[in-house]
Parts: sequence; C-alpha cells; structure tokens
Amino acid sequence: MNEQANKRRNAVILKSVSLAALIVFAVAVWLVKFHFVARSPYRVTHIFFHSLVVDPARGFSMTDDETWNEATPGFCQWMTTVHEFDQILQQLYDRGYVLVSLYDIVRITKDENGVAHVAPKKIYLPRGKTPFVLSIDDLSYYHSYGGRGCATRMIVGEDGKPTCEYVDASGQTLIGPYDCIPRLDAFLEEHPDFSYKGAKGTIALTGYNGIFGYRTDFCYRDHVNLDEDQQAFLDANPDFDWNAECEAARAVAQAILDDGWTFASHTWGHIRIGDAGMEWVRTDTQKWLEQVAPLIGGTDIIIFAHGQDLASWNEDYASTEKFQYLKSQGFSIYCNVDSSKYFVQIGDDFLRMGRRDLDGYRLYKAIYGGEDLVSDLIDAATVFDPQRPKDPILYQR
Ligand SMILES: [Zn+2]
Repeated sequence: MNEQANKRRNAVILKSVSLAALIVFAVAVWLVKFHFVARSPYRVTHIFFHSLVVDPARGFSMTDDETWNEATPGFCQWMTTVHEFDQILQQLYDRGYVLVSLYDIVRITKDENGVAHVAPKKIYLPRGKTPFVLSIDDLSYYHSYGGRGCATRMIVGEDGKPTCEYVDASGQTLIGPYDCIPRLDAFLEEHPDFSYKGAKGTIALTGYNGIFGYRTDFCYRDHVNLDEDQQAFLDANPDFDWNAECEAARAVAQAILDDGWTFASHTWGHIRIGDAGMEWVRTDTQKWLEQVAPLIGGTDIIIFAHGQDLASWNEDYASTEKFQYLKSQGFSIYCNVDSSKYFVQIGDDFLRMGRRDLDGYRLYKAIYGGEDLVSDLIDAATVFDPQRPKDPILYQR
C-alpha cells in the first residue's frame, strides 16, 4: 500500500519536474527568439564629446570690454556643458539607446604572423533597444583649458575609481564628477541597463601636453622645444617632478581601464592626418607610441583629430600608404568625424567608423541654424544649456 503511494508520489514529482523544465526551455526559446534581436554592426551610431564645461560663465567668457574672449568661439562649438551632458544621457536612455563597445561590433583576431584580422560581430539586444558607441576626445586638460571652468585633471578617487579635480571660480580645489568619465559612471550605477555587458566609452589621447592633466611629455622632462604655455607651467611649478607625474598618470590610466573604458590614439600632436605628409605621420606616430602608449598600456584604436581621415571617401582605404603604415604600427580601428547616422566600414584589416559630435555647434545648428542632425538621438532644444551664449558669431565655422 505504502509502496504504491510512494510510486504515485514519485510520478507526480517527475511530472512536475518535467513540466518545470519544459517551461524554462520555452521561456529561454521565447527570450532568444523574440526578446533579443540581433543588431547589425553596420547600423551602430557613434557619438563623441570633449571635456565638459562645468562653469559656463568661465568657459564662455567675455573680456573686460564686453567682447568675446579669443578662445570662447572654440569652447562654444566644441564643448558640451555638464548640464547638457546629463540631459543627453537621460534622453538617450529614455529613447532606448544602449552603450556598446567598439569591440562589441568587431572581432579582432591575430594570425600566426601577428597580423590582426577584423570581422563584423552581431550584438544581441532586447527588442526596442538601439546600440551606440561613445568616445571622449582630448582628455589631456591642455594648458589652453586653464581658467575656463573645466576640470583640471583626472585622479583616482578614494574608492579606486577615476574621478576629477576641479578648481572653482573662487580658487577652491574640489574633487568629484566634473567630467564625462565619472558622470557616465554615476549614470550607469543608477541605470545599469544603459550599457551592454558593462561597456563604457573610448578615450582618445594626444601627447603634446601630456595626458589626463599630467605633464608627461618628454619636453617637460628635457626642457626642450617648450612653447609659451609649457614654459609658463614649468616656471610656475619649480618643484615639478616628471617621474612622479608619469607615475600618477599611469595610476589614473589603470583606474580608467579597470573601470571598463578603453583608450585610443588621437595622434601625438593632434595632427591633420589627411593633410600631413608621410614623414610627419611617421614622426608623430613614433612620438605617440613612445610617450603615450607605455602610460596607458597601448591600443589598436586611432581616432583622428580635426575630423580628418587618412584617405578620402573614393580611395581604397586599405591600399593607402598611411593606412598600411598605421596598420603596421598596430592600429586596426580607425575613426573620423561624420554627421551621418551610420558610417561603418569593415575590411579584413580594419574597422572604419564615423563619429557624430554632440557639442555646442550641433546643438546650436539644430535649434537656430535650420539643420538638425541629432533628432534621432536627442531633443536639442531641451538639452541646450540655458547658460550657453546664443550669439551667432560664436557658432560660425
Ligand atoms: Zn581632438
């Protein structure tokens, strides 16, 4: 009698276990088939920023005689304010954008000769989500940024994460999220589904004024070929210790890497890659590889400055001399600036990608210039910082 009851009970258990397994399997199939959708790497948009303006009154300043400061048009056009950056992140998130890494859209493998081959990769995102890539240019805190209401340098915070040092208008030094990296990190902490597998952005670095606000270039060590700003910096800092500066920059780079970001070359001297001759490209690249790469652990990404590219649109990219040289120096991902929604080319040895600026120029153009190239991403009118000047003369390129 007891045995029969046991058998019945076992049969019931077996049935429920099989039913549960079936349900789990069905849900998994449903998730894979209907919830997650494969995204083409050729339809991924790429946006970029410069360092953020924390204090618009200084970033977009006037001289005493009420004319615009010489550097103000540049700041108005190329920079985004903290207020605007926060609005942009929120609006991208609300519209279903998800941050992916450059390495999520291509797979890079090395053959037996050490040559890197590039192949497209699909991304699986929940239905209704749209992938985008992010990069940050010129995270050097150039001497020319001094006194213009931006952060002064990146530091490693008490929690080991990258954060910023900022000097406010009264001269007080503050520590906190005063630029893109810690601001995006804070946003992601509240909205982890804004990033695909923890992807962050790519930081494009030049070398001529050092990196992250540390004066690591050889010229500060050797006191040769100094420009006026560099000489003034060394004069004002007689205790300057080049080795300590490099050590601090290295620690910041490691904290940024550990935080999930990647690095790119932005060329050592912020050169115009299209206009520059081969000799200049070689000299500049060697300087970057010698003076910047060792501090950040190297990279295979190059993000060109001044929006230029190494070839024109109708040239065969991979057969140009500049490409072949840069490829031989380890670069496989090449980015320019382009306002179209998608600019993605993938060859056997490269990913070439266009990037869209989300800066004062684009915002102004969208609202007042009759050319809205950002409406798929954001509503420019509600992003525009109320403290940003609207004088049309500041936005003429
Ligand atoms: Zn740049």
